[in-house]
Amino acid sequence: MKKDAVFIFSEDQLGYSFSDTHPFNQKRIVMTLDLLRKIGAIQDSDIIAPRMATDEELLLVHDAKFIDVVKRAGKGELREDVASIYGIGTEDTPIFPNMHEASAMLVGGTLSAVEQVMEGHSKYAVNLGGGLHHGFQGRASGFCVYNDSSVAIKYLQEKYGARVLYVDTDAHHGDGVQWTFYDDPSVCTLSIHETGRYLFPGTGNITERGNGAGYGTSFNFPIDAFTEDESFLSIYKTAMEEVVDFFKPDVILTQNGADAHYFDPLTHLYGTLEIYKEIPRVAREMAETYCNGRWIAVGGGGYDIYRVVPRAWSHIWLAMKQIPTPTGPLPEEWLSTWQSHSPVPLIPTWEDPDPLYEPIPRKEEITEKNAQMLDRALHIIRNEKQKK
Ligand SMILES: [Zn+2]
Repeated sequence: MKKDAVFIFSEDQLGYSFSDTHPFNQKRIVMTLDLLRKIGAIQDSDIIAPRMATDEELLLVHDAKFIDVVKRAGKGELREDVASIYGIGTEDTPIFPNMHEASAMLVGGTLSAVEQVMEGHSKYAVNLGGGLHHGFQGRASGFCVYNDSSVAIKYLQEKYGARVLYVDTDAHHGDGVQWTFYDDPSVCTLSIHETGRYLFPGTGNITERGNGAGYGTSFNFPIDAFTEDESFLSIYKTAMEEVVDFFKPDVILTQNGADAHYFDPLTHLYGTLEIYKEIPRVAREMAETYCNGRWIAVGGGGYDIYRVVPRAWSHIWLAMKQIPTPTGPLPEEWLSTWQSHSPVPLIPTWEDPDPLYEPIPRKEEITEKNAQMLDRALHIIRNEKQKK
């Protein structure tokens, strides 16, 4: 029988670990799964263990030389000066034991999610271990070694002949995926992110629209620092509706970085849990309307791993299962289990405290700037539509 949704996970995904003090910490997946278990939203039979991506699959996107370098790094056999050419052994993306195997496991998880959906075993699938959107063909970047979404998109094209829409709501620009498919008209990338003026990776300008045959299938919605829920959501919903209607994908792959939250230590956006409640529900509706339901979700950034990510990512699964949005207190047992791990008091409810922060004096100005950016972006999309 076809399932509504499957959750890709095994402890093997936790091997992707730079160090105990590095901001990228996969403990957030364990906490999310535990929260879903404690509210009775997920059963063991919903969980599927990921497989490791083969070299052949990684080669769909990555250079052989880069894969070889990652393999040697993970065995401690790579010179530092060589590593840095490939973006590893850096402060952001340090070398760790078995780096290749751990990275290939995250890619394999996203490929498992693709197979579940495309072979009709499940309508939707989520791999929270994936979402490594800064990985390039021949270079690691920004905590990302191999790019699971890029490999999964190539796999979707080659094995299933699918037209793929990639939607990235991480606070950072989805650069790795965008550049990999920049000249490919059968893949559309849509990224909403904090403007690159002051934030890594610096790209994601509205003028990045694709190249050659792929011109017109890359869409960027850079938003201002301190953007709040209302403005974020209005841009996200409008962008989704317009781009999905323009591109008419066979399948939607969403990257669900949870670092646009006010608490996130690495970005400057002022989102609350409200956006994480809405994002996956809109994605599901779009997939239902345009793609016969085919929707694959991956994780991504999210660096307040205790207060934000578990609640935020739970909403992806809840949207897939169409479980009504929970409100009020989190399970006491979950809070007591994880409070001892957390250096800060956990938020004890599904909602964030209201208000979460002091009012922003520049609110109107920021909202207006974002609205102007959206207008420009919509103009571009509608022009592309007319060309068709
Ligand atoms: Zn991010």
